[in-house]
Amino acid sequence: MSKVGDALAGFGVTFKAMLHKPITEQYPEKPGPVAPRYHGRHQLNRYADGLEKCIGCELCAWACPADAIFVEGADNTAEQRFSPGERYGRVYQINYLRCIGCGLCIEACPTRALTMTNDYEMADDNRADLIYGKDKLLAPLTADMTAPPHAMAEGSTDEDYYRGNIRADGLARPSEATR
Ligand code: SF4
Ligand code: SF4
Repeated sequence: MSKVGDALAGFGVTFKAMLHKPITEQYPEKPGPVAPRYHGRHQLNRYADGLEKCIGCELCAWACPADAIFVEGADNTAEQRFSPGERYGRVYQINYLRCIGCGLCIEACPTRALTMTNDYEMADDNRADLIYGKDKLLAPLTADMTAPPHAMAEGSTDEDYYRGNIRADGLARPSEATR
């Protein structure tokens, strides 16, 4: 193509762009949508009665290629129960200066305690505040949940929790159980 032809082709691209409606994201006033399966901030989930799903096993921390997770488990006791079974995650931290959003940690979690949300607004102006603890990661209590520590549902075993047989008001009858 001649130099004049090149120039006309170039101006053609410019001219077409001038006719397009501008795409302007009004961020942060109107944060844009993300894909439904976007890997954003993590969440530590609860059972329907409020007990925590995390059992402090550290599998997520071992699976993390960026060494971004720190877990310190502790024993549940009869008086102080935070999760079904023997152990709970006493300390749980994710360092978002390291996290690459790969999701390997949530794949490793045996109780589906750890999932990822669509929240991507995690910028800050200092390093310390980008290490999230349970105060930021734990799912909020809903109106029908009871804040731990508290006992497991009457007549239930830890297996009932893992199998999804627990409702906010106690152990579900077999016909009501969901997985
Ligand atoms: S998403 Fe990946 S990098 Fe981030 S904490 Fe999980 S395993 Fe580590
Ligand atoms: S989030 Fe899951 S994998 Fe990580 S310590 Fe808790 S139970 Fe284990």
